[in-house]
Amino acid sequence: MGRGVAYSTSEPAHLLNVRAEGMSAWAGEPDHFVKRFELESGDRRGFAQRRLFGRYLGEILDEAVASGRTERIDETATAATRIDDGWRLQLGDDSAIEASALVLAVGNQEPEVLSAFSVVGPRFIRNPWGADARAAVAELAAGGGAALLVGTGLTMVDLVLSLDAAGHQGKILALSRRGLVPRSHADFEPAPIEMAELPSGLRNLFRWLRRRSGEVGWRAAVDSLRPYSHPLWQGLGHDGQRRFLRHARPWWDVHRHRIAPEVAGTVARLVGEGRLEIVAGRIVGAREADDGLEVTFRRRRGAPASQSLTFSYAFNCTGPLHSIARTKDPLLRSLLDSGEVTPDHLGIGLEIGGTCRPGEHLWAMGPLTKGRYWEIIAVPDIREQAAAVAEDIEREIGA
Ligand SMILES: Cc1cc2nc3c(=O)[nH]c(=O)nc-3n(C[C@H](O)[C@H](O)[C@H](O)COP(=O)(O)OP(=O)(O)OC[C@H]3O[C@@H](n4cnc5c(N)ncnc54)[C@H](O)[C@@H]3O)c2cc1C
Repeated sequence: MGRGVAYSTSEPAHLLNVRAEGMSAWAGEPDHFVKRFELESGDRRGFAQRRLFGRYLGEILDEAVASGRTERIDETATAATRIDDGWRLQLGDDSAIEASALVLAVGNQEPEVLSAFSVVGPRFIRNPWGADARAAVAELAAGGGAALLVGTGLTMVDLVLSLDAAGHQGKILALSRRGLVPRSHADFEPAPIEMAELPSGLRNLFRWLRRRSGEVGWRAAVDSLRPYSHPLWQGLGHDGQRRFLRHARPWWDVHRHRIAPEVAGTVARLVGEGRLEIVAGRIVGAREADDGLEVTFRRRRGAPASQSLTFSYAFNCTGPLHSIARTKDPLLRSLLDSGEVTPDHLGIGLEIGGTCRPGEHLWAMGPLTKGRYWEIIAVPDIREQAAAVAEDIEREIGA
């Protein structure tokens, strides 16, 4: 508890993708995490292991429990119904709890179902963050079979690191429509700007970004937008946001959500050794074969244009679920089905009003609020949101 998908990994090769100095859990105490990291590593600007950050979050939760003001219940919330001035939450063990305020902080949802793999069996790993994925990595390392990673973003990078750390020597093929891979962090001279210097509209913003990248470097240009990411997103309007998701998102993601240089080094080494191939293309079909999973795909460029290869395992690395209406989380399902919450205008999170409120005495945080804020998935953004939500709850129902 407290660690979520991101920080419950036990793999030392999984590093944070934000420098330690940016990862304090507390909005008002920027050095809270980095002080500890510096003690252990002598470094302030490095990228800590995610499991170390998980321990840090676990300790904060332990302190909250020890204070007597927080109780932890290790159960799945399966449904929520409204009662007078609050909520009754049904739990997986058939017990229930009542609360005046309910905060939905359920994080990222399992990836989208991939139609090409809908009829294949357990050699296709639907959830790359679960126990099946860990078992498949161990089997691949022991047997040396080939692995297909569908998706070339941060989840792909995690899987590649896990396979490499486990001693896997077989071939890894990672495929996505554009074959774009997260770029590496590197030191750069910041080039801050004022919001007033930015043009309006998606096309103009991207033109500005290209020009500014030429002047100050793309990392400085991209990061100069960070303080304004929420108003910029909201300023795009619904049509602009839809166009961003359709056309610009893959480019934005790989430049904005960068990986630690040592992680980028491992990816480059594996590509150089011919053990990892990144392909731009699309999956045409998949079927069970005697010796594994036979997958046919078409390359966007290069030869052969169409190819069928057999893999011991394929992993869904397409990233968190995009369409919230398809969530399998029982709590979210119950709230969506009863109409207590509704998908936002883009269908990627929940419709919220005020300070992250999808309903009365109901708050939502993190990825569930992507439609309103877009850049609200990483700790530096979520901690500010957590502080604002806490204040709002106090205002609404008292301390
Ligand atoms: C692999 C990965 C790596 C990442 N690395 C970074 C990073 O380096 N730096 C960074 O800033 N961000 C990173 N992120 C972004 C990450 O999403 C956030 O940092 C943060 O973990 C999100 O916090 P959260 O509390 O919203 O969700 P989560 O951390 O996912 O927590 C959600 C919790 O809710 C629980 N839950 C869900 N449904 C129910 C239910 N029905 N009943 C009971 N409990 C439920 C889950 O079990 C989980 O414990 C990463 C994300 C991923 C997936």
